[in-house]
Amino acid sequence: MARFQFGDEVLEGEVSGNSIEAKGRAYDLDEVALLAPALPSKVVCVGLNYVEHAEELKMDLPSEPIIFLKPPTAVVGPGADIVMPPSSSQVDYEGELAVVIGKKCRGVPAEKADDYILGYANFNDVTARDLQRRDGQWTRAKSFDTFAPLGPYVVDLDPSSLAIRTRVNGSVRQKSNTSDLIFSVPELMEFISEIMTLLPGDVIATGTPPGVGSLQAGDLVEVEVDGLGVLKNRAVDAK
Ligand code: MG
Repeated sequence: MARFQFGDEVLEGEVSGNSIEAKGRAYDLDEVALLAPALPSKVVCVGLNYVEHAEELKMDLPSEPIIFLKPPTAVVGPGADIVMPPSSSQVDYEGELAVVIGKKCRGVPAEKADDYILGYANFNDVTARDLQRRDGQWTRAKSFDTFAPLGPYVVDLDPSSLAIRTRVNGSVRQKSNTSDLIFSVPELMEFISEIMTLLPGDVIATGTPPGVGSLQAGDLVEVEVDGLGVLKNRAVDAK
């Protein structure tokens, strides 16, 4: 599933190859502007959820998921700029697998999680690392407009063993596999839906593998999880 703009119209459609079909009409992908494929009421992010990343940081594996929120106003689509705020001098990429909720739910047991998931998308949990350290909590660092690129589309697939990689200007910076997640997607669904009602379009970002690093103005960052296409965004200075 993808959302896109064609002229003044915003449509939802299904992508196959180089075309996208919506309302019985096929559009060439080149003639439309893809938008973020979901309009979440909230983005629930998971910190420290890859074994290798925890080892890299010499941290104990968490016994429960560490979660935080990003506001929906941070979400942008494929091709959108990541605007680096003047108040930060270290803006990092974090390539992640995102879950997109399909049906309103609460109190979902892990074994039923799949019934409430629309599909999966690439996600970039952009973070002002210096502000994260300075504040001691994460809201400011994670919440700037454009700090939640999502897309290019939502695909329903088995998320349990997918290669994930992040490239900056074509060079690979993160390379892992979702089989290395400490808490699996069904476990995260159970944990998070015990706390809050999840609504259609809500996003769960499952955490980043090792290799996070900084962006400079002009850098092109790409997040690619197998089967989900490539999410490309360019970092720019605030005007
Ligand atoms: Mg993250």
